[in-house]
Amino acid sequence: MRVEEFLDKFEEKVLKARGYSYRKKQREIIRFAINSLESGKENVLINAPPGIGKTVVNYAVALYFYLNYGYTTLYTTPQIPLLDQIERDPLLNVAVIKGRDNYPCLVEPGKTAANGRCVRDRRFKCVYDCPYRIAKMKALDYPISAMSFAYLVYDRFLGEAGFGNRDLIIVDEADDLESWAEEFGSFVFKTRNEFRDIHDVVVWARAVLGNVKERISELEKEDDLSSKDLEELEKLRKYEIKLTVFLSKVRKNERNWVFEKTNSELVVKPVKVGDILGDLVWSRGNLRICSSATILEKEMFCKTTGLRYKSSVMVDVGSTFPVENRMIFYLPVAKMTKDKREKGYRPIADAIAEIVEMFEGYRGICHAHSYEIAREIYSRIESKVRVGIHDRRNRKSVFNMFLRGEIDFLISVGFSRGIDLKYDLARYQVITKCPFPSLSDVRVRELWVNRKAWNWARYVTIRNLVQTCGRIVRAEDDWGYTFILDRSFEYLWKYAGYFPLYFTEAVKFVDSLDEVRRWLLEKNMSYKQNYMRRK
Ligand code: SF4
Repeated sequence: MRVEEFLDKFEEKVLKARGYSYRKKQREIIRFAINSLESGKENVLINAPPGIGKTVVNYAVALYFYLNYGYTTLYTTPQIPLLDQIERDPLLNVAVIKGRDNYPCLVEPGKTAANGRCVRDRRFKCVYDCPYRIAKMKALDYPISAMSFAYLVYDRFLGEAGFGNRDLIIVDEADDLESWAEEFGSFVFKTRNEFRDIHDVVVWARAVLGNVKERISELEKEDDLSSKDLEELEKLRKYEIKLTVFLSKVRKNERNWVFEKTNSELVVKPVKVGDILGDLVWSRGNLRICSSATILEKEMFCKTTGLRYKSSVMVDVGSTFPVENRMIFYLPVAKMTKDKREKGYRPIADAIAEIVEMFEGYRGICHAHSYEIAREIYSRIESKVRVGIHDRRNRKSVFNMFLRGEIDFLISVGFSRGIDLKYDLARYQVITKCPFPSLSDVRVRELWVNRKAWNWARYVTIRNLVQTCGRIVRAEDDWGYTFILDRSFEYLWKYAGYFPLYFTEAVKFVDSLDEVRRWLLEKNMSYKQNYMRRK
């Protein structure tokens, strides 16, 4: 079947049959991806903002290659909520498999397939139609199977029938692959030992791996494991994988590993993660599609993820949302670098209070970047509305209160990706600090300070900033405004060419919030109506 014929049939039999049609630009992206892969490219990078419908695009490409060539696909994402969406989406005929703890155990109510009878007791032969086993068998048989990133990687080590390699691998929300691989390759251990260099770490890791293996085999010999034993076993298996990966990789390139000993903890991290992704992800498919809203540069993306530049192509798509509905106002209030921020807290808090007042009647969120900044701002904000803040322990429950409308303005940390604040869930957001990578991290120091990888640091910051700005406008008829208050944005703006066009076209430099107020009253009817009602 030719590409155009497929595109017509896809529209008729998949989209229209369920009451949909192509969204703007979907058809051309699918065509581009198919043509590129058919003409010999191995990797297609799709950079497209929210609203394009990237999952349907990815699915259509997988379907085309299955119908035409019998190619099978592994569809993966680091974002668990996206997996749930794929499972619910009526347009997609994809078998989803999740971690064992997502499926109930039928033998022991209250337990899951992660801690059910068969997992604890090796002799037990289960005769029930286990929901996990059914889902796994279906996914193994299906031409297009979706799973989380963690599942894809640990699948190899699970000791049960695995997915092996397929023809095509699709990574949805691929921009953060580097952080994911860094986390996979890193480990933290409590130890009193001191380490002079990476050789000391290798000697120590070998000894620990021996002990870990010994304890695993002890536990595996047990006939009936307690929940505590099972927890220990899970943890040890993960350590076994991490130590094995470290020892095999460090032998080939010891310069690629950094470590840090703080108090009683040893932290070990890979510097570049391309070979980890190569082994664990890229090798799982001969052809690859990576999609995200923030694959900003083909070269940097390939460099940081280990994909071959020459066999990769990228399609860069603009936003289909009206620019007036998603403006980003840059108001230079204060510099928030570590040495300057003490002086910055007061003016930043005052500006935020004024923004909150401007948007009274609407909900908003502040991305504070760190818990320290969040606390300092919270303690200085005076507002009539309900302002909330969370810490590491209650972040989920406080965020849920915000979603339920029990908080009007949330001062948050770490909600710059993976959340979907559409329509009234949030109409404005404030960025107090440009999200540069943290120099308290040993890997960041190695790259940024020792190896002078400034381009990398800038790329990561711009990517994180663009991700954050995309949280509140999620549909064509949605609207919401972003305020950047950190003066460091001016430095980033010197590299405006590295931002996607859909971002730069929405940026407006302003000198005061009055200027924003005037702009909103002039341009935005929804804001205006609410504003007038209040007056
Ligand atoms: S195989 Fe049986 S015992 Fe094991 S989790 Fe499934 S239902 Fe429970």
